[in-house]
Amino acid sequence: MAVERTLSIIKPDATARDITGKINAKFEGVGLRVVAQKRIRLTLAQAQAFYEVHAERSFYDELCEYMASGPVVVQVLEGEDAISHHREVMGATNPAAAAEDTIRKEFGVTVQENSVHGSDSPETAAREIGFFFSQVEIVG
Ligand code: ADP
Ligand code: MG
Repeated sequence: MAVERTLSIIKPDATARDITGKINAKFEGVGLRVVAQKRIRLTLAQAQAFYEVHAERSFYDELCEYMASGPVVVQVLEGEDAISHHREVMGATNPAAAAEDTIRKEFGVTVQENSVHGSDSPETAAREIGFFFSQVEIVG
């Protein structure tokens, strides 16, 4: 295992319900440190650029509109095996299929409004962290 960094987003359905603190408590409770964090409102163009890998998927337009529909909290999380560990704590994409004790099981609403995003590989994490943060904003 190695110490990694991953990009996390607390999505609009979660910021609307004021549960960003509860979600951060889940991360910190399993050893994922918040080493960068900011609350922003994505433009539609920014959401489209962030999710460009999904441009061919049927849900792409709806997903981008949703991600631009309200504030999000973007974060860098750091820890042992952070990328897979974070995805484990988030749970399956569809909250209905997510395991007990996962964030999506506890807080997710629908397959789209599933409260959190997490990078899925080291390459994706590097791209996604660089999309939102400069080096000086990340303090380990
Ligand atoms: P994950 O976020 O678990 O990595 P994906 O990368 O496959 O999942 O999808 C990105 C996001 O797109 C999901 O988190 C969810 O918000 C949305 N999404 C995925 N599948 C669907 C779907 N079938 N219908 C609507 N939205 C979806
Ligand atoms: Mg994904």
